[in-house]
Amino acid sequence: MATPVRFSSRPDFPVIYHREYVAPLPSSHRFPMDKFRLLRNLLVKDQVVNEDQLHSPDQSPHELLPLVHTAEYIDAYCNGTLDPKAQRRIGLPWTPELAQRTCRAVSGTVLTAELALERGLACNTAGGTHHAYPDFGSGFCIFNDFAVAARHLLTTGRVQQILIVDLDVHQGDGTAFIFRDQPEVFTFSMHCGINFPLRKKDSDLDVPLDEGTEDDEYLRILGEHLPGLLEQVKPDIVFYNAGVDPHVGDRLGKLALTDTGIFRREMQVLSTCVSQGYPVACVIGGGYGEDLMELVHRHSLLHRAASDVFRQYQL
Ligand SMILES: [Zn+2]
Repeated sequence: MATPVRFSSRPDFPVIYHREYVAPLPSSHRFPMDKFRLLRNLLVKDQVVNEDQLHSPDQSPHELLPLVHTAEYIDAYCNGTLDPKAQRRIGLPWTPELAQRTCRAVSGTVLTAELALERGLACNTAGGTHHAYPDFGSGFCIFNDFAVAARHLLTTGRVQQILIVDLDVHQGDGTAFIFRDQPEVFTFSMHCGINFPLRKKDSDLDVPLDEGTEDDEYLRILGEHLPGLLEQVKPDIVFYNAGVDPHVGDRLGKLALTDTGIFRREMQVLSTCVSQGYPVACVIGGGYGEDLMELVHRHSLLHRAASDVFRQYQL
């Protein structure tokens, strides 16, 4: 009689975290920096992940940043010599710790993409800096992690085609701009049409939603696009930005998804891709709730869904 295979003996889906994901900010700042550490702790406390699943990026991305960003911008940001106007556009006050954190988060997304290729599914506990352009940052985004990871996988020959699924409530303008002339990366952004950024860049597919869109309508529209896109693009990997700012309680969102709606969305995206054999690298994207622990719970819905999907499809 064959010995039954125990799930617990298999390595579970990789989750990427580094203690440097949290850098000090002035306490009055509206960016919820603590959420990364609290998310990691919540995932462990609720046994969504165990310590063995946690991976830390140890590589500096400095050799990878020039795949996307100009040398002038990289040097100025890393050395704290950006001009004040460019610094204000980012919206986060510069400190050496924040510069280090910024690089570490990019490394985290690169590692997430590499592990997703190996294991079929991997989730960062940060990332999604889609408003960053080659030579400037904006909207809390400094270096574009998806763009760096995508170019890295393409230039090392590990993939030929990537699909970016950006469901953060804000349009992925920086990513759309970076890949405007690169057909190997298909950019799809579904966002609130009247939200930031005011001047949007054309993604390969943009789906702007009306203010106040609720769960069922949102998931119906997503379901109209995602399966066809996979069929059309046939990516070697999907990069998924699971921003939770479409939530009804988000301060910057303007859409009206509930926690249940967000969880259904994560299940829909991950099962649609994974059931057809497409690996998915996930980042948490934006989220700006009034209550920090409610926000952290919202972000954890991605990892909870990933855990279910990973087991369901026995990756
Ligand atoms: Zn956002």
